[in-house]
Amino acid sequence: MTGQHCWGYGEEDGPSEWYRYFPIAQGNRQSPINIVANQAVFNASLKPLVVSYDQCTSISLSNNGHSVMVEFEDNDDKTVITGGPLNDSYRLKQFHFHWGTQRHEGSEHTVDGKSYPCELHLVHWNAKSYATFAEAAAASDGLVVIGVFLEIGEEHPDLNRLTDALYMVRFKGTKAQFHNFNPKCLLPENLDYWTYPGSLTTPPLNESVIWMVLKQPISVSEKQMERFRKTLLFNGEEEEERIHMVNNFRPPQPLNGRKVQASFKC
Ligand SMILES: [Zn+2]
Repeated sequence: MTGQHCWGYGEEDGPSEWYRYFPIAQGNRQSPINIVANQAVFNASLKPLVVSYDQCTSISLSNNGHSVMVEFEDNDDKTVITGGPLNDSYRLKQFHFHWGTQRHEGSEHTVDGKSYPCELHLVHWNAKSYATFAEAAAASDGLVVIGVFLEIGEEHPDLNRLTDALYMVRFKGTKAQFHNFNPKCLLPENLDYWTYPGSLTTPPLNESVIWMVLKQPISVSEKQMERFRKTLLFNGEEEEERIHMVNNFRPPQPLNGRKVQASFKC
């Protein structure tokens, strides 16, 4: 465990129990949420999201016991997002996924009550205002997470490089080199988004995230989703238990009066 408290997605340590060690779980800007499309407010002043991942440098693939994650070099501004609701540029730090056991569940955000089988999170931090990722993660405007829904359909050829590498990080706490992977290939064509103020969806659940959830899902095959569900384990190699890493998603949290804004008209 990275923190001092164990948490997970099981019956005893899952999302409904997180508040015991992380009281902010019951805070008023928690994520994910259910996005009600016709209650999102179109804001004409929201600029398009600009993704500058051209010089992007991936480093590693790892299993942290909660998800599978790809980390990036983030010591300069070569891999950033700008535009949208943001005043500054935000550097890409890592991306990871949340998924279920079947196609009707797995995403964290839902749209009009509908879940997708998987959700990709690209985590960025504000290096203009904060010195480190940790410092940004403690500030109300420190992080931007782009959420991308995955739906079942055509195979996603670019995702195979990642699913082919999953066997190297089967166990919790394992890490493998993973160079030259540009996550721009995992974004949909249309970058229309919903945005709202929220939190990390895993402990410590900091209320430090400006969320940008993309409207258009990307398509992956059932076989590709099965690679996530069948290869990865929640357990370390030394543990006797072998629990498949599935259902690593937090359910929607109360909106508490927050407004979801849309960059597009319905
Ligand atoms: Zn996430």
